[in-house]
Amino acid sequence: MLRTHTCGELNISFVGKNITLSGWVQRSRDLGGMTFIDLRDRYGITQLVFNMETRPDLCNAARKLGREFVISVTGIVIERSNKNLKLATGEIEIDVDSLNILNESALPPFTIENNTDGGDELRMRFRYLDLRRNILKENLELRHRMSIEVRNYLDSLNFMEIETPYLIGSTPEGARDFVVPSRLHHGEFYALPQSPQTFKQILMVAGYDRYYQIVRCFRDEDLRADRQPEFTQIDCEMSFVTQDDILNTFEGLSRHLFKVVKGFDPGAFPVLTYDEAMRLYGSDKPDIRFEMTFGDLTELVKGHNFKVFDDAEIVIGINAEACSEYSRKQLDALTDFVKKPQIGASGLIYLKYGADGSLKSSVDKFYSPEELQKWAEVFNAKPGDLILILSGSANRTRKALNELRLEMGNQLGLRNNTVFKPLWVVDFPLLEWDEDSQRFYAMHHPFTSPKPEDINLLESDPGKIRANAYDLVINGVEIGGGSIRIHSKNLQKRMFQLLGFTDEEAQKQFGFLMNAFEYGAPPHGGIAFGFDRFCAIFGGSDSIRDFIAFPKNNSGRDMMIDSPASISEAQLKELGITFLNPQKQ
Ligand code: ASP
Repeated sequence: MLRTHTCGELNISFVGKNITLSGWVQRSRDLGGMTFIDLRDRYGITQLVFNMETRPDLCNAARKLGREFVISVTGIVIERSNKNLKLATGEIEIDVDSLNILNESALPPFTIENNTDGGDELRMRFRYLDLRRNILKENLELRHRMSIEVRNYLDSLNFMEIETPYLIGSTPEGARDFVVPSRLHHGEFYALPQSPQTFKQILMVAGYDRYYQIVRCFRDEDLRADRQPEFTQIDCEMSFVTQDDILNTFEGLSRHLFKVVKGFDPGAFPVLTYDEAMRLYGSDKPDIRFEMTFGDLTELVKGHNFKVFDDAEIVIGINAEACSEYSRKQLDALTDFVKKPQIGASGLIYLKYGADGSLKSSVDKFYSPEELQKWAEVFNAKPGDLILILSGSANRTRKALNELRLEMGNQLGLRNNTVFKPLWVVDFPLLEWDEDSQRFYAMHHPFTSPKPEDINLLESDPGKIRANAYDLVINGVEIGGGSIRIHSKNLQKRMFQLLGFTDEEAQKQFGFLMNAFEYGAPPHGGIAFGFDRFCAIFGGSDSIRDFIAFPKNNSGRDMMIDSPASISEAQLKELGITFLNPQKQ
């Protein structure tokens, strides 16, 4: 090997040893009589010293090394006079007596430092240089550790990792599919899986009662900052289980990860129903690192000639503790915030509970101090608090107040990314009504089982049916979701009918699954975690991109290999799609 040690392992106990190191030139400092080089590899940085007096030839050669040159050096470990205790190798340096240039490097287009000067796109184009940065290396190390620990934990519980195909058929439910044209069957297409959902259920029918897979999934959705067209799931399924069994098993997995990767046990996860989450936080993925739950003033405020409240379906608010001194300017900024089109409130009403006990609101004209006192009680407000109130239609107002709550959490420093607060949200509605297409959609997916006690609503009031579905949320981010599945052919058929499928359509697209249900399908359920997100949360970041070795940019392009790209005329012809090539028309 071209090295005896790595650049991260030498310390004072190696002094006097003759060693060989290989790596990249991070930086060099020429002090006339001496030249110092920081040599970097995956494991760390070691300082090399070249002495002009004793080895002028070597020192001159060292002076000519550029950034990111790959070199190998042999020398003696010596104790540094000027120690850097922040560095694992900071007490020693290498007195070099031979230098070998293994490869030169062009000048990198940005600095390979944690605080780099390279912009996003440039760094993605030169991803191999970006990945040399310590910060990204640590992210990928974290990801590796998490995948190993997921496998260890699930293996210890008898889960089997089984691969499922990437070339499958397209289905119109859920997100849009990425499709792959077939060369052997012109005019026919494979689709890349949005998840292995139906395959893992088939595995349950086949008797593999504990399955998991760390698996790539593909969804051709409109891109958002934190979305990638291909992403990774920890996909799991179990037979002969209830919802509680699944929650226990995967709470166990999550706690194991917290313990071994983050070094602490977050304790038992609280469980909120979907309805409670919406009522208290206006969100099905609440950030419970801080309280500030919603208070409902709807009943209290009606009938005082304040038209805005009288006309509102709901009037709700939050208590920003110790904020009664907010200035006019700060309140105006919050009003502008809630009025942004993506938040959608029409205005913001406040109640200041002064430190002196006074109550001052933006609607004093309509409400007496005694009435305002009652409002304050709804929020358990104390002198010094500030209550922020929104009103309007229920869904919209809850959504807007959720955004305002998160914004206040940010402003007040309550969303510390080294604090982790996981919870389960359960009892999601089974269906969601879509106004545009005038039909129901499955809120989770069409294989999710209704709660047995709600099955009688299937015909009479489908919108009210609750599902045996659950999400794992950490710090306001949905990390995982799953459900107990339907395992009876008849119920599955009824479900497809409810979703507007004809029997023929259902049979054509999902016949294989419904047929399988005729051959002894066990009761089963499962969950999938967004692995990239799980890693990002653990890494204290909200960018999943920084936890994926080769991500796509915001418009779905791989900047390094420059894809998607056109293909040759010959390839198109072979695939039978030449006629679709616009340049040829
Ligand atoms: N397949 C589902 C998803 O990708 C997860 C599950 O139900 O297990 O969201």
